[in-house]
Amino acid sequence: MPAENRDSLDRRDFMTGSLAAAGASAFIASEAGAAQSQSGGPGSGTEYTGEVIQGKKVVSRLDVADLEPGRKHFLYFQGVETAGGQHWYVSVVVAKGLRPGKRFTLTSGVHGDEMSSIRTVQAVMDALDPAQMSGTVTAVLDIARPAVESMQRRWPNSGRGQGLIDLNREWPGDENGASAASRHAGLLFNRLLRPNSDLAIDFHTGTTGLEIAAFIIGDRTLPDVKTMADLYPVGQMWDDPAYPGVLHNAFVDVGIPCFTPEIGGARILDSEMIALFVEGTLNVLKRYGVIGGPIGRTAAEAGMRIGNAAFPIVATHGGLVEYRVKLDEEVSTGQTIAVQRNMFGEVVAEYASAVTGKMAAYRSDASSEPGNVLAFIIFSRPEPSPRLGPHPDGEGSYPE
Ligand SMILES: [Zn+2]
Repeated sequence: MPAENRDSLDRRDFMTGSLAAAGASAFIASEAGAAQSQSGGPGSGTEYTGEVIQGKKVVSRLDVADLEPGRKHFLYFQGVETAGGQHWYVSVVVAKGLRPGKRFTLTSGVHGDEMSSIRTVQAVMDALDPAQMSGTVTAVLDIARPAVESMQRRWPNSGRGQGLIDLNREWPGDENGASAASRHAGLLFNRLLRPNSDLAIDFHTGTTGLEIAAFIIGDRTLPDVKTMADLYPVGQMWDDPAYPGVLHNAFVDVGIPCFTPEIGGARILDSEMIALFVEGTLNVLKRYGVIGGPIGRTAAEAGMRIGNAAFPIVATHGGLVEYRVKLDEEVSTGQTIAVQRNMFGEVVAEYASAVTGKMAAYRSDASSEPGNVLAFIIFSRPEPSPRLGPHPDGEGSYPE
């Protein structure tokens, strides 16, 4: 479309201008001695903006090679510019080992209501002693910053009136993209995540209104993903090549093995599930030689059930939904999963599983209109799982 092309070119000119201005201010800050900016070609070198927020230096580009080894570094990454002319700053913790080794990146908060994902990464970082480490672990904690502020899944976008954007459908983003969410993703991916990662893990939970079991989403045909996933003491894995625009998929597309742990319900800190995923992540860091110590419990001990497909049960009616099975329960083909009643209490629908598998997620909001996904059952089918298309309810048939 010619109009769209023109729009996009205009925007690129505008963004290029503003990036040049940002470069100039970084240079001035460096000259003033407020920053330790180091030169480097595109995609390398740390750029300090010269600002300090609540005691944390601000970077607009990070190369962990520039950081002092043997200690932890607490920084803000300057994300996308806001309508008020400031920026969304993202919290970054780098544990830089005394000795060289693998560089891991742990991400959380891509959805703003997934609190256990943030706490899991915090707890892993707390357990690390850089003086004893070989390699680097970078934690990026509150990626969808404005969504975290209001504890909601999606990014509140102000493009054409208030809108909501799922940041985990935007990766790898575009620094010149049409939405703030796309530009934020592009800035993080190009200047923080990709340049500092040999391996990565993107932590999530269920979403508001969707309770989930502890499970892992990842592509087991990737050897490192299989190795890492099998080190988690959790009950389920969805072996899947992933959904377009998802962060862990963007990592994989540039050759960085990555997968997504799912840590229970949204909005809460689920301490039991957090402990499982902290143990699993420390197992991974031990397996790759970043830290020492014996491997803890793994998937083998947890009896992890691996499925290559997620069967969605979709509501056909409106009304209140009662479930007949619990999370992590084995279900068989034909088994009743849920019963739905209208406002008179009359049964309007009974939902049965068409597959044999394990309950991975269910809708926790008691009422539902037609078209909502009520439950996901992870199961195995003989042929490999295709990439899923969007579901008509707009949420996608992808339980993360
Ligand atoms: Zn999520």
